[in-house]
Amino acid sequence: MNKKVISMVLAGSMLLSMSSGMAENSFANPGTYSATAMGRNGEVTVTATFSDSAITGIEVTHEETPTLGDTAIEQLTAVVLKNQTLDVDAISGATLSSGAFMEALEDCVEQAGGDVGALKAVPVENAAAQTEYDVTEADIIIVGAGGAGLTAAKTAADAGASVILIEKSGVVGGNSLCSQMGINAAASKVQETLGMEYATEDLLKEAQMQWGGRENLVNAYVENSGKAVDWFAENLGIDFSGKTGDQVDPADPLASVGEDHPSGSELFMVRADADGYTSNTLVKALNTAIVGAGVKLYVNTEATELITDENGAVIGVKAKAADGSEVTFSGKAVLLATGGFGQNHEMVVAYRPDLKNAITDEMAPTTGDGVMMAEAVGAKTVDMAEMQLFPHVPVGDTWLSPMGMPGGFMTTGLFLNQDAQRYTTEGFDSSIEGTLAQEHAFVIFGESDLNDDLKRLEARGLVKSGDTAEELAAQLGLDGAALAETIEKWNADCDAGADSQFERLPFTLKKVEGKLYGYAFGVGAHYMMGGVLINEKTQVLDQEENVIPGLYAAGEVTGGFHGSKRVDGSGTGDAFVFGYLAGNEIAAEIAGN
Ligand code: ADP
Repeated sequence: MNKKVISMVLAGSMLLSMSSGMAENSFANPGTYSATAMGRNGEVTVTATFSDSAITGIEVTHEETPTLGDTAIEQLTAVVLKNQTLDVDAISGATLSSGAFMEALEDCVEQAGGDVGALKAVPVENAAAQTEYDVTEADIIIVGAGGAGLTAAKTAADAGASVILIEKSGVVGGNSLCSQMGINAAASKVQETLGMEYATEDLLKEAQMQWGGRENLVNAYVENSGKAVDWFAENLGIDFSGKTGDQVDPADPLASVGEDHPSGSELFMVRADADGYTSNTLVKALNTAIVGAGVKLYVNTEATELITDENGAVIGVKAKAADGSEVTFSGKAVLLATGGFGQNHEMVVAYRPDLKNAITDEMAPTTGDGVMMAEAVGAKTVDMAEMQLFPHVPVGDTWLSPMGMPGGFMTTGLFLNQDAQRYTTEGFDSSIEGTLAQEHAFVIFGESDLNDDLKRLEARGLVKSGDTAEELAAQLGLDGAALAETIEKWNADCDAGADSQFERLPFTLKKVEGKLYGYAFGVGAHYMMGGVLINEKTQVLDQEENVIPGLYAAGEVTGGFHGSKRVDGSGTGDAFVFGYLAGNEIAAEIAGN
């Protein structure tokens, strides 16, 4: 994991201005202090320097997802230094890295003899939040700075279009940053160099069409996937040597499409691992590249409504700034790249009543805004009930790898309902239906299953522990006697060598003993296959499937490409490939007019 250092000091002019007008803080023990807190993916260490009346410098070392952590922490640092406050709710999104930063900083303030409560009461007069908009008119207005929006911004700007990119949260990257997958592509120079000649367009189309995707969209993806990957390699210098096709026999590529990989994604996927997973690497590169390309990025700016002319053509976007004021952007075209709607529980349940107990692992504030704004101007949506579920998401976290579960993919923990009773054969996929039926679900495990992932969740207070069943139950809000009985019964089953209630496989029969641990979890609404219907040029279509002039969409906000299943590697691809296509198409359309 990369370590990143961010360092900032209070400018002299600000120190002077603080003496007149700003709140007086006092620090009994001026000096430099350090503290560490747990972020989403690793530790965040803050080293802060204090005079007797001010926080004068902050240095942060962190192991967080590069772009997510950097942007949020840089903004927070600037706000704290400028306003001399600890009241920083201004940076939405990236809440876990922001939270860890603030926790460590508060610790430093205490060490310096400062008053955390008083500092929290100091108002933020000038948050890093966006309230000034010097440019509000451009050829293209892009809504959402995840994988699709960032890619479209860069490709369109390279093609000569002026671009405004607005982002609701305080950081770029969206849920694209949660993706661990590479990109499915075909017939790219990158793949040829890697010896993946078997990744042909015909084969990718065959794999992609299995789940009922629309043929024109699958074709558009297939034809542009290789071009997009090569563009990333050539234009942004991305190194895709982290390929995944090692297990493919070039003489018989389809032989690798077994039960484990029904999608055949291993045949096509290319990975760029320089900054962690592929999407992190690409988002980080794009984040820098859009600045050089002249894209105007406004964060903390939430699109609320599309503006149309008298003919129904989309000519702009209304948005809400961080201070609540309204700002209007106008352009020749608008691209919606707002991602999915996992963060909008009401909307999830409206399409899928069976998901009423589901939570989500979507990290960015993706609440279906793009779908709603498009519907308001007559757009058609398709496949809205098709959602990919992630079976095991700890409540309060956004994500836990199957291998991070107690005991790993074939978990050795016990899945319990709110009465502390087992309700299913524990496992990753096997438990989905049972878990969805529970209003609250818990996993309980013994100390030998406390792996590094779970230790991180423990450090963040999500995993609870107790020396006895009663102690753990009290932490989780369960009945102590019932939990003790369930564990006792299970341990007896383990001694007897058979699961007396459900169908746990023999090698997963492991006693729950030693210090006891547990956490609440749920099924996560993970990826939305459905959304706004587009054509092969990423133009949004109306109910009769006619083009709505001026309106485009790309990435998870769209529907029709995946059908009922998201092939591994085609979700990341959906954002980056359709983003690439959208940027080029819109720029060409504008240039042609
Ligand atoms: P994709 O993979 O399709 O690019 P992501 O989830 O990565 O989708 O990114 C979508 C981005 O759109 C997120 O960063 C999210 O915060 C942003 N977003 C969602 N709704 C709005 C909105 N109303 N205005 C501006 N940005 C939005």
